[in-house]
Amino acid sequence: MLGVIINRFKQGFKTLSYPKEIPSFPKRFRGKPITPVDLGECLFNEGAATYSQDYRMAVSKREDLNFKGDEVKLAAAFNEKMRKIFGRSLKLREVCAGSCSGCDAEIAAMGNIVFDLSRFGVQFVASPRHADGLMITGPVTKNMESALKKTYEAMPHPKIVIAVGACALSGGPFRGSKEVNNGVDSLIPVDLYIPGCPPHPLTILDGLLRLLDKLPAR
Ligand code: SF4
Repeated sequence: MLGVIINRFKQGFKTLSYPKEIPSFPKRFRGKPITPVDLGECLFNEGAATYSQDYRMAVSKREDLNFKGDEVKLAAAFNEKMRKIFGRSLKLREVCAGSCSGCDAEIAAMGNIVFDLSRFGVQFVASPRHADGLMITGPVTKNMESALKKTYEAMPHPKIVIAVGACALSGGPFRGSKEVNNGVDSLIPVDLYIPGCPPHPLTILDGLLRLLDKLPAR
């Protein structure tokens, strides 16, 4: 037992001090492009664009994903009424609507000790009846269409929708297939669009904290 305690002390504090400090990213990290591209469709593969190390890309409107090579119009904060309701406690239900699981793995990573999502008052719940919002991955396959609509309808008002990853934003690599819906907003309204294939956990966290107005002024 003593060995376990000593070991625990040796490990130290693992949680990032984000958002106070921004961690450095590995050289191969592909953040916000520096050449024009539709962030909603971008799969962040080599050759499609030139990329920076800027992880901040979440926006409030689909048209703001149309990146022209300048600044991205990042997501706006909730209004005061919504901040009062969700600011200290936001419960999300995650729906995988036909994703490859890449985006879901990054969402799951937000709960580990490095990112520790719950310190911001954001938690995942098991039922849409207990949720304030949906976090959706995948292009919304035809098989998942009615399940997604029912899940959305089961949430109480007010409710929000967060689309995560190129598939949820535009269909991603499956865009145009007759088996998919080319993204969430073809079926239900979206409040936050988070680009990436998959997005880094800090890209998702940045979008959430922008909505909740919890980012320090820089
Ligand atoms: S956006 Fe990329 S990582 Fe995410 S579900 Fe689609 S293919 Fe997978």
